[in-house]
Amino acid sequence: MRLPACGANFSSGLPAAKEGSVKKNPFSKQYIGEDTRRRDLVAPEREHDPYKARAKSAGPAVCHQCGACFNAGRWFWSEEAPSGAPRELCPACQRVSDQFPAGEIHIGGDFALAHREEILSLVHNCQRRESGDHPMSRIMAISAGDDEFLITTTDIHLPRIIGNALERAYKAQAVFSYPPEEHFVRVKWARGYSANQA
Ligand SMILES: [Zn+2]
Repeated sequence: MRLPACGANFSSGLPAAKEGSVKKNPFSKQYIGEDTRRRDLVAPEREHDPYKARAKSAGPAVCHQCGACFNAGRWFWSEEAPSGAPRELCPACQRVSDQFPAGEIHIGGDFALAHREEILSLVHNCQRRESGDHPMSRIMAISAGDDEFLITTTDIHLPRIIGNALERAYKAQAVFSYPPEEHFVRVKWARGYSANQA
């Protein structure tokens, strides 16, 4: 069962950038708290990301969907596009278009279901904070089943960041798994009666 209102509120759903303009970071950085970015990533080096087609040595580019800019090996938000940059689809928008996530977070248990709005607010804050500096890190969709939420992401870092945030906030461990030979991460977090039955 999908919850349209939930997805509408929290999916990445970026508006298309206007022709001739470059969109500034559409994710406001309102979250104030401990910075756990990247340094708590203990995952082994993943297999090659098939969506990272751009080599670090490639020239500048601008995503015609979200407005993210590419230059000197990285994607970033900017008011001004690199001069002469061609327009193309960035890896995050390509994954959204293909409906091909790089990560997923399963949030289950009675506690999560009873505190849905609070938990989704935490999830959304994680995205805002992370996407501000890392434009390729976004939530693709949030759906809800009878006993869990499923959140999909455009990169493999955001699920771990959300999993760590849930652990800190609610004192329950997440389980991180990395299917071998795939550029993909799966995080499962649960707290409550039904978590003990998983
Ligand atoms: Zn894009």
